[in-house]
Amino acid sequence: MSSPLHSAIPNSGISLNILIIGAGLAGLSTAITLSQTGHDVTVLEKSESKKEVGYMIVMGSNAMRVLNKIGVNSRKAGAVDMDFIERRHYKTLELLSSLDVAKYDKAPAKLYYRPDLHNELKRVALLGLGGKAVRLILNAKVVSVDINNGSATLADGRVFKGDVLIGADGERSIVKSSFSEPGGMQQAHFKIFRSLIPTSAFLSDARTRRVLDLCRDRFVMFCHPTNSLISVLIGRNGDLLDVECGYRYRQGERAMDASDQFGIRKRLLEEFKGYHPDIWCGIEMAMVTTDWEIWKSTSQKNLTQGKAVLAGDAAHSMEPTTGQGGSQGLEDAGALAVFLSNIGSKSEIPHRLELLSKMRIERTSKVVPLSGIRLGEEELIRKNFPKHPVSRSSIKNGDEHIAFLFDYDVIEESKKTLQEAETPRASL
Ligand SMILES: Cc1cc2nc3c(=O)[nH]c(=O)nc-3n(C[C@H](O)[C@H](O)[C@H](O)COP(=O)(O)OP(=O)(O)OC[C@H]3O[C@@H](n4cnc5c(N)ncnc54)[C@H](O)[C@@H]3O)c2cc1C
Repeated sequence: MSSPLHSAIPNSGISLNILIIGAGLAGLSTAITLSQTGHDVTVLEKSESKKEVGYMIVMGSNAMRVLNKIGVNSRKAGAVDMDFIERRHYKTLELLSSLDVAKYDKAPAKLYYRPDLHNELKRVALLGLGGKAVRLILNAKVVSVDINNGSATLADGRVFKGDVLIGADGERSIVKSSFSEPGGMQQAHFKIFRSLIPTSAFLSDARTRRVLDLCRDRFVMFCHPTNSLISVLIGRNGDLLDVECGYRYRQGERAMDASDQFGIRKRLLEEFKGYHPDIWCGIEMAMVTTDWEIWKSTSQKNLTQGKAVLAGDAAHSMEPTTGQGGSQGLEDAGALAVFLSNIGSKSEIPHRLELLSKMRIERTSKVVPLSGIRLGEEELIRKNFPKHPVSRSSIKNGDEHIAFLFDYDVIEESKKTLQEAETPRASL
């Protein structure tokens, strides 16, 4: 059975052997787009039973365009619609800005509980829905790669080889580190406390019920003017809440271990004591809170070298505030399917990967520097911080920022780029 992706990217070229390292969101979605466009895909994943981190994830309309085409069943995955992105005052709860994202209704943005989205991607990949079944090898830690040969060696000595080697192995990518000019990593200026709370707990108290009513069908950030923010994300068919508390860490302060719940709660209290009592009441309901450092990549000059190409966080890890890290990985998955389609001979692959790299760097070099912005705050930043990347960009306000992120069809853009690049070659 062919998928909508197959109709969008008809492939009459040769079938390639694709080797992907990493079965995160980027690796699995790329495995699906490539198997649905006729390639043979093997994924190597170091963990024994790859499970996604258990928090919520926003998939913007740019990502949903790809997810919908590969046949991901969002209803089955418990996804919840996200119609607005809003900022509210941390103390008064007053509405500061509201961005309507429901207008991108060709591919409405959604909130997923990550493990559910991951399981759904695994189902589509392993059953080979709309394409060939993906071969997923777990407990397969890659210890070295030869990017010129397209091969990866596992800790147990086994060697795998592909016509294309895709590094979807996260921000500390072993594939990226094999490039002659690997980009670096930089710690963001804030950390995040994350807690999962059943919605039923919020419903049991009038104060948290009020918070819940403010957050339905939307992504709400309760914002301190400068130092912190709390977002409450409702997912898993509306049954589960993810409370994410971002704050500026002190110099030298590292993420606390999850076993130190006493230390984590003490720090939470210190940082967020000024927040509205209704929100406080919600934070106190968390049974377990984890503390996360955020790292972002510094510019990667080229996403391809030899037979290798980078995707997902390996190519462009970023700050989570605009909710675009995973969504950009989905864009990579869509782009790779286009650039590796209709290839007549394997000698064309390096040129195709160069074209892909150029297009993806152009896009992500604009997305990444803006990834720490609280959506809706653009005008304020432009007024007060003339050197901020958004002040130097053409984006003037939240609506324009959302349009730049969401109103982007990676498959159509990739086809256009490829067509423009191939036309003069064909007429030579
Ligand atoms: C707090 C927070 C909130 C976020 N919220 C959002 C959001 O709302 N929306 C959004 O789009 N993004 C969000 N992101 C970003 C998003 O989580 C990441 O961009 C995304 O998960 C990256 O997926 P990936 O597949 O590229 O990398 P990863 O998830 O890191 O997957 C890499 C995989 O490679 C495997 N691997 C690594 N090394 C090897 C090896 N040597 N051999 C074999 N396997 C290997 C790993 O085990 C892993 O499974 C958020 C991030 C954070 C920190």
